[in-house]
Amino acid sequence: MATIADNLQQIKARLARAQGVTLLAVSKGQSALAVREAAAAGQKAFGENYVQEAVAKMDALRSESPGLEWHLIGPLQSNKTRIVAERFDWVQSVASEKIARRLAEQRPAGAPALCVLLQVNASGEASKSGVAPRDVPALCEKVAALKGLRLRGLMAIPEPGAPPERYREMKRLFDRLKERFGLDTLSMGMSDDMELAIAEGATLVRIGTAIFGARKTPAEKAA
Ligand SMILES: *Cc1c(COP(=O)(O)O)cnc(C)c1O
Repeated sequence: MATIADNLQQIKARLARAQGVTLLAVSKGQSALAVREAAAAGQKAFGENYVQEAVAKMDALRSESPGLEWHLIGPLQSNKTRIVAERFDWVQSVASEKIARRLAEQRPAGAPALCVLLQVNASGEASKSGVAPRDVPALCEKVAALKGLRLRGLMAIPEPGAPPERYREMKRLFDRLKERFGLDTLSMGMSDDMELAIAEGATLVRIGTAIFGARKTPAEKAA
């Protein structure tokens, strides 16, 4: 059976051919032990969907695997923003000015700016989360002005089997805003659509199953 380290190595080899694509290891539903294994194999950035689950892993790993970078990739409600502002390095799922403002206000003084991506509801996306593409420029404007946050780019979750055009629309939107807001990150692509997303211009892919295997904890059901 392939180990986490084997899987990571294989994915990184594919990414090396693409160049300039960052790998986010999605560890939702996986144990702290699995994260530690990936960290020992050189993986630094981890993505989580659920705040409580993520913070428990951060605490468990703080001393043995220091220097990890944590990204929230799941929907964020306003009653959870404080702990997210305190504990995460990135939030990829910002979808409203209200949430962005709270994160900015609650980011501890002296901490580096919290990196944020705006989650875009790519047209036709089955899930309702995310900002409509036409509203993205205005939200960029607002978020870019907030102290404590650093707007890095856009995130999308095209529905399974989405056509290449869906990815292209995201890339076009990203390119239109890139210069104006100094964006450097277009987050799209998961285990099943990684190749397509990279071919269409993703700069960060979020990979869970292909690294860790099937998720073992109930997080999967909630996802
Ligand atoms: C779970 C999840 C992933 C990883 O999905 P896999 O199919 O396991 O690679 C990526 N992005 C988001 C937003 C997720 O919720």
